[in-house]
Amino acid sequence: MAKKRVAVLTSGGDAQGMNAAVRAIVRTALERGVEVCAIFEGYQGMVEGGERIRKMNWNSVGGILQFGGTVIGTARSKEFMTREGRRQAARNLIEHGIDGIIVIGGDGSLTGANIFREEWSSLVAELVQNGDISADVAQQHARLSIVGLIGSIDNDFHGTDMTIGADTALHRITEAVDAITSTAASHQRTFIVKVMGRNCGYLALMGALASGADWVLIPEAPPDVDNWEDVMAERLKAGRKAGRRDSIVILAEGAQDRHGKYIGSSHVQKALEERLGEEVRITVLGHIQRGGRPSAFDRNLGTLMGYEAVETLLAARPEDGLVVIGIKNNRMTHLPLMESVLKTQAVATAISEKDYERAISLRSSSFSDAFKTLRTMIRALPHPIEAGRKRYRIGVLNAGAPAPGMNTASRAAIRFGLDQGHSMIGIHNGFEGLANGEVKELNWMSVSGWASMGGSVLGTNRKVPGGKDFYEMARVIEDNRIDALLCIGGWTAYEAVHAMMLNRSNFPAFNLPMTCLPASINNNLPGSEFSIGADTALNSIVDAVDKIKMSAGATRRCFVVEVMGHHCGYLAAMGGMATGAERVYIHEDGVALKDLQRDVEMLSSGFQAGKRLGLMIRNEYANPIYTTAFMCALFEEEGHNLFDVRPAILGHLQQGGDPSPFDRIQASHFAHLCMESLIQECSQSGTRVSFMGMQDGNIQFHDMQDFERMVDTDHQRPREQWWLDLRNLASMLAQHGPSQL
Ligand code: ADP
Repeated sequence: MAKKRVAVLTSGGDAQGMNAAVRAIVRTALERGVEVCAIFEGYQGMVEGGERIRKMNWNSVGGILQFGGTVIGTARSKEFMTREGRRQAARNLIEHGIDGIIVIGGDGSLTGANIFREEWSSLVAELVQNGDISADVAQQHARLSIVGLIGSIDNDFHGTDMTIGADTALHRITEAVDAITSTAASHQRTFIVKVMGRNCGYLALMGALASGADWVLIPEAPPDVDNWEDVMAERLKAGRKAGRRDSIVILAEGAQDRHGKYIGSSHVQKALEERLGEEVRITVLGHIQRGGRPSAFDRNLGTLMGYEAVETLLAARPEDGLVVIGIKNNRMTHLPLMESVLKTQAVATAISEKDYERAISLRSSSFSDAFKTLRTMIRALPHPIEAGRKRYRIGVLNAGAPAPGMNTASRAAIRFGLDQGHSMIGIHNGFEGLANGEVKELNWMSVSGWASMGGSVLGTNRKVPGGKDFYEMARVIEDNRIDALLCIGGWTAYEAVHAMMLNRSNFPAFNLPMTCLPASINNNLPGSEFSIGADTALNSIVDAVDKIKMSAGATRRCFVVEVMGHHCGYLAAMGGMATGAERVYIHEDGVALKDLQRDVEMLSSGFQAGKRLGLMIRNEYANPIYTTAFMCALFEEEGHNLFDVRPAILGHLQQGGDPSPFDRIQASHFAHLCMESLIQECSQSGTRVSFMGMQDGNIQFHDMQDFERMVDTDHQRPREQWWLDLRNLASMLAQHGPSQL
């Protein structure tokens, strides 16, 4: 039976990105010709009914993408925990003709939703018995379909890689720890930063990895000794001795020792003050972690999940259980609710039973990988070198345009290599520096503080070497006895390493293992769905566009925002989705005159009907003739007195800035894997040349021989781009609805 009317509600703790989900749900439903209501104040609104349940139109959810929290309100409802409350809620839904709901909340809210769904027929029968509704009405509402979205900053739900709100919370944590680090370093102080996460150390662990913290305490992995306070203090002392100016300890709310005893911040403070003999400060981040504007990732995650939820709800069969929408390997997925809730709760049980191995194993593989990487990164000094073990000399360079996260990746690679007993050679200023012999051996403390720094400390440039450079490069590799090379960079790095591989017969020094780690804001590298830096650039675009939108004030104005990406439309398309741009112009789709004509008409009719702001996003190379200036002039001329047009060329602010938490985490993870691969190759006397990346959730090292086959060389982008499928959805949600504006 076709759905007549559906509703959305947000429940439990608020999470950034819930608004994006509400917007996508309302607009997708309208686009599909289905009426849609919002239930304000969560389950409490469902129990109260009346004005709390309101019909939504296209404009009701306009301009909310950038807001934090949830515009339709959330609450914790005691009444909904009772059968009477749920019966009243059922009555209100029936009164409003609602036969499908989408609940956005944590595992508590979704468990409540499941109970409600299972009780539905008996609740309806009671309503008939009490004379509240007729048997006819009851028959029309024999079933209630429910789809769930997980809004939770803790990222603690089994079966999904991310929950709505977790990425933004990590942004708040890294911003706070970055800020604290600078004051702590000035005064040589120790800080304890307490972050949220009762049964889940995700925020603490990833926050520590992203911010370069020195110690972390999480529920899933308590310290393995009883005198852990001594060990922690010793390590922090050793770090100071090695040259660190600050010590940052990140403490998850639910941290405990191996006997299950809760570890409070004052206990850690006292323990450290006694042992370090210095003042130790505590910062409890608290609700700051829920605050601020949603990150680009959470806006897009909310949007994609919201769309998927409506499609799932409309396709639901009576026999279907409650489905939760998750994201796995960068694609939407459906999770059976109760199984996921049980597995989520199993982590808490494992922790309370002190079965920590099981607790970690129940988390995703990225969790345990991050834990492994962190354990190396936070060491004060590398492990002592095992006698008789062969040591290699591994060069690290950055190449191409600067990408935020290059330093994080370099730091992780260098520390990982040193910890394994190898010599790490920093090559400055890319391939030009390699040719000029700008090389320097690095030690553990050379990279201190790099985790959070934007730009490239090693120095990078876009020179692709050729001819005479090869000769010089070969000489420097030989003189410095470099055994393997890690190139962290974008297109230039790939092209250069590819060229070195092709010139091996002329330059035998190039017969060494080499690997490229994708780092480019353009996200245009083959074999990887994400390259380091793209997430930061996307957030910079979103920040800038939020401000540009606010500047429009009382005028009727259309902005044409030009973003980077060379010929790859990733930043434009994903930036467009995260900012609600009406139109995105990318080179992959091309721009034709008839498109521009249609867009002028769309703008004119929109402004005529009272809209105040237009937003178009254009990739820098979308079309060489229809430039940003041309488009602005055309729209201005055709807009007559109706609206004016302003260009906004975002330029280099997209390449700058401190790396986002996602870029830092990914950079550390990628660097760790690249080093493992290079060391293994060295130990087998191999000479493999490769580029790595994450695709479909798997890390893969591709042979450099495949580079040309996998890319469109003329336009410097991969032949297959996963995100292209998403662009129609973004434009559907941003344009005017079928019947109303
Ligand atoms: P979260 O969804 O963030 O985990 P809570 O656990 O506080 O947050 O749940 C939010 C609301 O969901 C509760 O206030 C209650 O109204 C409803 N709810 C939670 N668990 C149940 C349950 N077992 N039965 C009915 N309603 C529930």
